[in-house]
Amino acid sequence: MMEALRVSADTFGHRGFRDPQAAIVGAALLGLDVFVLMPTGGGKSLCYQLPAVMAPPGTVSVVISPLISLIHDQVQQMRAIGVEAGCITGGMPDEQCAAVMQAMLAPPGGATVGPCMVYVTPERVVKSGRFRSVLSRLHADGRLGHFVIDESHCVSLMGHDYRHDYANLGCLRDEYPGVPIMALTATATEEVVADVTKLLRMRFDAQSRSPMALIRAARLAGGAPSPTAQPCCLFRKSFNRPNLRYSVVEKPRGRVADVVLDLMKKYPGESGIVYTLSRQQAEDMASAVCKRTGREDAAVFYHAGADDAVKQANQQAWQAGKATVMAATIAFGMGINKPDTRWVVHASLPKSLANYYQESGRAGRDGEPADCVLVWRHADFKSQERMILDPDSGRGGAEARAAGAPRRAPMRPNQLDHHARGRLASLGTMLDYARDMVKCRREHVLAHFGERFSPDQCGGTCDNCERRRKSTKIDVAPAAMAMLGIVRTCPRTLTTTQLVGAFRGALKPTAKGRAKGGGQDRMAAVMSHPSYGAGAAATFTKDELSAIVQQLLAEGCLFKEDEMNKAGYNTPRLVLGPRASAFLASPGRKWLLPVRQTGRVQATGAAESKMALRVPQRHAQALERELRAAVAEHLKAEPGGW
Ligand code: ADP
Ligand code: MG
Ligand code: ZN
Repeated sequence: MMEALRVSADTFGHRGFRDPQAAIVGAALLGLDVFVLMPTGGGKSLCYQLPAVMAPPGTVSVVISPLISLIHDQVQQMRAIGVEAGCITGGMPDEQCAAVMQAMLAPPGGATVGPCMVYVTPERVVKSGRFRSVLSRLHADGRLGHFVIDESHCVSLMGHDYRHDYANLGCLRDEYPGVPIMALTATATEEVVADVTKLLRMRFDAQSRSPMALIRAARLAGGAPSPTAQPCCLFRKSFNRPNLRYSVVEKPRGRVADVVLDLMKKYPGESGIVYTLSRQQAEDMASAVCKRTGREDAAVFYHAGADDAVKQANQQAWQAGKATVMAATIAFGMGINKPDTRWVVHASLPKSLANYYQESGRAGRDGEPADCVLVWRHADFKSQERMILDPDSGRGGAEARAAGAPRRAPMRPNQLDHHARGRLASLGTMLDYARDMVKCRREHVLAHFGERFSPDQCGGTCDNCERRRKSTKIDVAPAAMAMLGIVRTCPRTLTTTQLVGAFRGALKPTAKGRAKGGGQDRMAAVMSHPSYGAGAAATFTKDELSAIVQQLLAEGCLFKEDEMNKAGYNTPRLVLGPRASAFLASPGRKWLLPVRQTGRVQATGAAESKMALRVPQRHAQALERELRAAVAEHLKAEPGGW
C-alpha cells in the first residue's frame, strides 16, 4: 500500500487517499472483482487508474465509458500527467483505431511503450471483432489487466440510463475468464447493484462479509485468486451530504419567487439555482427576480431553447458571480462547476428522487452550509404524469405534429412499456418525498441508494427533523381513533387524502356520483357515513392529519394495499393493520405526536387542550357508538387481537 501511496502522490499529485480509495485499490491489486458505489466527485477514477498505472509493463486495462466526450477528457488528463492512455471511439478514423490496437499489442520492454489503459465505448467491445481479437491475444499472453465499467448502472434496465450495449458486457467474463472486473457508479439502488453484478457475471452476495474481510481472505490465500473464486467486494461511500439542508414547501407556483428572495437574503451576495419545469418558466422566474430586487443583473436564465450566445453569456455571468440567480431547466447542470453555490430551489417536482439528489447536490460542493428547497404542488405531479402517459401533449408532440407525425393517443398505465413504467415509479418516489411531513428527508434520499440512515444523525438539518425538535407534543389519540373508525366501517377503501377529507367532512362527490343521483356512488356512501366529518371542527391542518395517518401506518395500525383499477392506475388504499384492534380497544390511552403549531390554532390554554379533537355533539355520539361497536366486533372476532 505504501507503493500505491507513492504512485498516487508522484503521478497523480494527491497527498493521500480519500476513504475508501485505499481499500478499493488494494482489492484491485489483489485481482478481486470490485463494485464501487460512490457519489459523484467522490474520486472513482483514481480507483482504477492507479491499479492500471501500477500493473506490470505491457498490461492493458480496458475502461468502458458511455460518453465520448468524457473519454476524451480522461485521456487528455492522463496524458497531461504522463500516463500512457489511449482510446477507441466511434467517429475516430480507422487508421487511428488500428494504431491504438497495434500499440496495445506492443511487447513490453520494446521500443514503443503501449498504453496501460484504453478507454472505449461499450459498442466497441460488443460489436468490433477486430478489437475483440486484440483482447484475445492480450488475454492469451496474460496481459489483460482489468475490465473497468464506469457508469455501470447503465447495464441494468432498472438503472435510469439503460444502454443496450452495456447490457451485453456480460460476454467479457465468458470470453476472457480470470480477468477481474471493476464496476463503478454513483447511482444504484440495492436492486440495481444485484442486477448489474448478475448481468456482468460477477459473484455478488448481499450477505457476504465486509470487503475488508474478503481482502484479508484473499491475502491469506496467497495473493491473486481467480476473481470468481470469491464474491466481489462491494465498497460504498455514504451519499449523505451533511452540509446540505433539505426542506419542502407546498405553495402556489406564483410564490416560488418568495422562496428565492428569502434565500437571497439568507445568503447575501452568494449564488443559487432555481430549476423550473419549462423554458418559459425559467425566463419568467429570472425576470420576476430582477423586478422584485430592482436589480437588472440579479438573475439570468438558461434552457436548451435559448441562443448559444445567450446561454454562454448567462452561464458566464452566473459563474463569475455577477448574476446571483440562475433560473434554468435541467438542461443546465452537466459540466457546471461552481462549488460555492449556496442554494438550489426546485420550482416543480423533479422526475425522480435520484434526479433530485443529483440536481440539488450541486449546492454546497465546497462543504459549506447550503440549502436545497423543493417548492411544489400536486398539479406538478399531475403534469409530469401526463408527460409520461401522454407524451404528445407537450412541446415535443407539437413539434412532431408540425413535422407531419400523427398525434398518439394518451395511454393508461397498463399500456405503458417497461421503460415508461419505470419513469412512473420513479416519479412516485419523488411524490412520496414531497408529501411526507414526518420522515427525515435524508432518510428518504439515502434509502434510495440502499443506505440506512438514522434520523438522529440529521441533527435537525431537514425541515421534518427540525419540526420534530421544535414542535409541541399533543395527544392525537382521539383523532387517530376516529380515523381508524372510519377505515374500519367505511363501505369502501380510502386513500390517505380521502381519509383526511372524510375526517374533516370535506370530500366532494364525484361527477359520476352526482350523475347517478348521489346515493349510488361509493363516495356518496362515505359521505353519508355516521363518522363522516367527525373532525370537521378540529383544529388540525390537513398536513397534520396526514402526519397522523403516517404515524398510524408506522405503528402498524394501518396498512397500505395497492389497489389497481381497470386502467392500471395503482392507488395505495388504507386498510386496518394488525395493531389496530389493540389501539381501538384502549380508548383511554394518550398518543403524543409532535404537531407543528400553526396559525390556525386559536384556542387558548395548554397545547394539549388546544389541539384536542372537537367533535360536534351529534357526531360525537355517533362516533362513540360506532367505535364501541367496532371494538366489540374486533374483540369478538379475534380475542386478544391479531
Ligand atoms: P467521480 O468519478 O467519482 O465523480 P473523479 O474521479 O472525477 O470523481 O474525482 C473527482 C475529483 O476528486 C477530481 O478532481 C480528482 O482529482 C479529485 N480526487 C480524487 N481522489 C483524490 C485524492 N485522493 N486526493 C485529492 N483529490 C482527489
Ligand atoms: Mg467519474
Ligand atoms: Zn432529517
